[in-house]
Amino acid sequence: MTSAPEAREPVETDTADAAVGCDLCITLLTHMRAAADERDLSGEVDARIRYRRHMLERHGERLPFPI
Ligand SMILES: [Zn+2]
Repeated sequence: MTSAPEAREPVETDTADAAVGCDLCITLLTHMRAAADERDLSGEVDARIRYRRHMLERHGERLPFPI
């Protein structure tokens, strides 16, 4: 198995990153993972942006831009 080096980080986001008890965090992370699994880059980016915005607005956490 070969793994080509990529510029962007692999998606290892898990529900562990979600704020505890926040359904929207889990929903957005689930979307992000599903899109990544399907290699749906635009869907993944969209979910990531929504998650970042949600984290900032609801939880006051500014995530590093991974893209
Ligand atoms: Zn949340």
